[in-house]
This record gives sequence, structure tokens and C-alpha cells, in this order.
Amino acid sequence: KQRDPDQPEFHQAVEEVVRSLWPFLEANPRYREAGILERMVEPERAILFRVPWVDDRGQVQVNRGYRIQMSSAIGPYKGGLRFHPSVNLGVLKFLAFEQVFKNSLTSLPMGGGKGGADFDPKGKSEGEVMRFCQSFMAELYRHIGADLDVPAGDIGVGGREIGYLFGQYKRLSNQFTSVLTGKGLSYGGSLIRPEATGYGCVYFAQEMLKRIDQGFEDKRVAISGSGNVAQYAAQKVMELGGRVISLSDSEGTLYAEGGLSDEQWQYLMELKNVRRGRLREMAEHYGLQFLTSQRPWGLACDIALPCATQNELDGEDACALLNNGCICVAEGANMPSTLGAVDLFVEAGICYAPGKASNAGGVATSGLEMSQNAMRLHWSAGEVDERLHGIMQNIHHACVHHGEENGRINYVKGANIAGFVKVADAMLAQGVV
Ligand code: NDP
Repeated sequence: KQRDPDQPEFHQAVEEVVRSLWPFLEANPRYREAGILERMVEPERAILFRVPWVDDRGQVQVNRGYRIQMSSAIGPYKGGLRFHPSVNLGVLKFLAFEQVFKNSLTSLPMGGGKGGADFDPKGKSEGEVMRFCQSFMAELYRHIGADLDVPAGDIGVGGREIGYLFGQYKRLSNQFTSVLTGKGLSYGGSLIRPEATGYGCVYFAQEMLKRIDQGFEDKRVAISGSGNVAQYAAQKVMELGGRVISLSDSEGTLYAEGGLSDEQWQYLMELKNVRRGRLREMAEHYGLQFLTSQRPWGLACDIALPCATQNELDGEDACALLNNGCICVAEGANMPSTLGAVDLFVEAGICYAPGKASNAGGVATSGLEMSQNAMRLHWSAGEVDERLHGIMQNIHHACVHHGEENGRINYVKGANIAGFVKVADAMLAQGVV
């Protein structure tokens, strides 16, 4: 905290991990003696660069670009790119730190990284987004590579942006390699990658619910966000017989008391991914309630899936969810719950999954995209989905194995210890580097 006083999100992510790891480290002094944790909180490399581009009025704009290469202990750096005005070094360090544990949990050989820019794609023309992506990659390309660092999407970076980034990388490097994941199907992408984070989150919740003899059937499910993760989490919930009662964006919450219909889900996909419109329009179109400036957590629900952004669910929201009888919270977003909210969920003993476990399906399927690229073949949707499902079940199993506590499962502890051990053992074996 003294070294980087202006990085509250990073401190929060580290505190969450250290609190649950500490007893384990005391019981296993070899990790402490080798300074594993001290090394893990310092990025191996942090790159910061200028991203100049020209807007549609002919004016020069300048944004700040970043890539944090956090850990390469178990594989090449891997993690998404975020384009959002709130991006700064502290936010990306928290995301990169979480990514190290998450990637380890997938059991695939991927280190941790994260990057992005304080660029806001909202309201920008196609041409502006393309020119920005090209300028961003004009610097990033020298720091990444198929065996070095493989970025993907995140907030503000979807299929469109990955396409522009890939095109520029290929032009500059003169190589068609697996340097980005989340690619389009026509140029090396994997089936099910767009669906993977949302589906994976629901698969994880399903495993937690199974342990208490519950399922999604007829459950009221509150979802936040309306982007990539929220869209596919909603689809899978509906497929499993649950009722999706909310979606949200930065303007407020759409409330669908009876649950979204298939037609409304299709409308959402077109609205968000083709027209790039706002959720308020959808509420107006269907005569649904739009709760301006409100989050979904005050709504009575059985299951909550926060799928928007960090710290979107605080202690007060957690109390409201628990008072309304919510039995399960599975995080699709990264660190959506504040430390206070996490404590309340864990104390209450509900099924609570931290994002690094429940949203790992996205990066896991990126790992599967890299494998397919390396083998120069394509797996069917069914094959990828089956592997994704199996990986989520294995992560759940690992969390249960390490998270048993007074007859309950503490998934925070389970995910942190399971994610830590593999990385720490690799670091011990590789010496002080
Ligand atoms: P998208 O950009 O597709 O969607 C983001 C959604 O969250 C939008 O509805 C957006 O609303 C909302 N949102 C973003 N920032 C804020 C904010 N500050 N306040 C309120 N709402 C906000 O991103 P993704 O769906 O890909 O990512 C969502 C979360 O999931 C992030 O935490 C991301 O790190 C995490 N994640 C994503 C993975 C992936 O594969 N995509 C993998 C693992 C985790 P608006 O349009 O109004 O900004």
C-alpha cells in the first residue's frame, strides 16, 4: 500500500487473497521462505504507452495503453484487454493478479496478464474504433506473441475489436499466429468462445446448487450487466428453466418480473451487438420497468449473477439479497463484490463463488482456442462445450477440496489455495526469478 497508494482495487484483490491464504502459508513455511507472495504481487513487467489516433472530425486524440505481464510461472501471459474510461494501472493490476489464480484453476498452462486503455468505445464510429485499435496494436505487437503473451477481450473489447487488433498484428508481424483469442470463426476463432464465460458461470452455479439439492428450475435469477457475459449467462439460465428477472447497464436496471422470453433475449442480442443501443430502449419497446440509476440487488431473487464490473455489489446490496432469501451468488464479473459483501455471503453460508473460479470458463475456452490453433483444426460446438463443462466441474471440485471449513465449503478459500499452489510450486522449482 505504501508503494502504490493510489491503487485501491489492487489492494482489495490482494487483501482478499492474503486473508484466506494466510493460515495455509503458516502451515506451509516453504512458500513464505521463498517469498512467493511477495513476488506474486509485483508484475514481472508493466508496459505503458501512448495511443494517438485521429477522430472523425480530423482531430488528434491521445489515450493511454497498458499491458501488465503479471506471471509467466506456468505458461505464457494470458488475459483480456479492457477499453473503458476507468482503466488505470491499479485496475489492470487487480485484474492481472486475479487472472494468475484463475488461469491456474483452469488447469491449462497459462500465466496471467491484463491490458487495455482508457478509451471509451461508446458513441464512437466504426472508423474511429478501427483506427484506435490499429494504433493500440502498433505498439502492443512488439510485446506479445503466441508463446509469449496472448491477449483476449474484456469490457469494451468484443469480436469487432479483436478483429481489428488481429488484422493490425498480422500486418505488422507478417505472421498468422494465435496471438489473440476471441477471434472470429472465419480466421481461427473457436466455437463457444463468445458463450464461454456466461455458460461457465452458470455451470459453476449449477455445481454449487447440486451440493444442496437445488437447481435453476423455476428460480428467479437477477443478472447485472447486459454485455457478453450477462447475455450468455441469461441464455443458459433460461435453457435450464430459470427466470431471468433483470439485466443492467451503467444507466440502470431492466426489471422483467415474469422472466425474459426467448424473443426478448434475441432482441437484446441485436440491440447490444448490432445496433449498440441502450437497455432503456428495450424496456420501452416491451413496456418493462426501467429502474434508473439502480442496481438489481434490491429485487427479490433466489440466485444472483453479477456480470457487469468490479465493486458493483456492496455490503448493503449483500444484506438486501440475503434478506430476500437469495441462496446463491456466482460472479460472472471480476471482483463485483466488495470485501464487506464477500464477508456477509461467507458468514451467511450461502453458495458464493468468487469470479476467479466461476468466470474462468472464458479464459479456459481461450486456452482451447489456442490448442485448436496450434493443432490447426476445429472442434465442434458440442465438443468445446463439453470440455468447458468438464473444466468448470473440475474447478468446482478443486474449490471443494481446498475450501472445506466447519462442514461447509468456503469457495473463496478453496479457489485461492487451489489457484496458488500450482503457481507457487512452479515458482519454487524455477528459483528466485
Ligand atoms: P461488456 O463490455 O460486453 O459488457 C459490460 C457490461 O457491464 C455492460 O452492460 C456495461 O454497461 C456494464 N458496465 C461496465 N462498466 C460499468 C460500470 N462502471 N457501471 C455499471 N455498469 C457497467 O463486457 P463483458 O461482459 O465481457 O465483461 C463483464 C465482466 O465480466 C467484467 O468484469 C469482465 O472483466 C468479466 N469477465 C469477462 C470475460 C469475457 O470473456 N468477456 C471473462 C471473465 C471475466 P454499459 O454498456 O452501460 O457500460
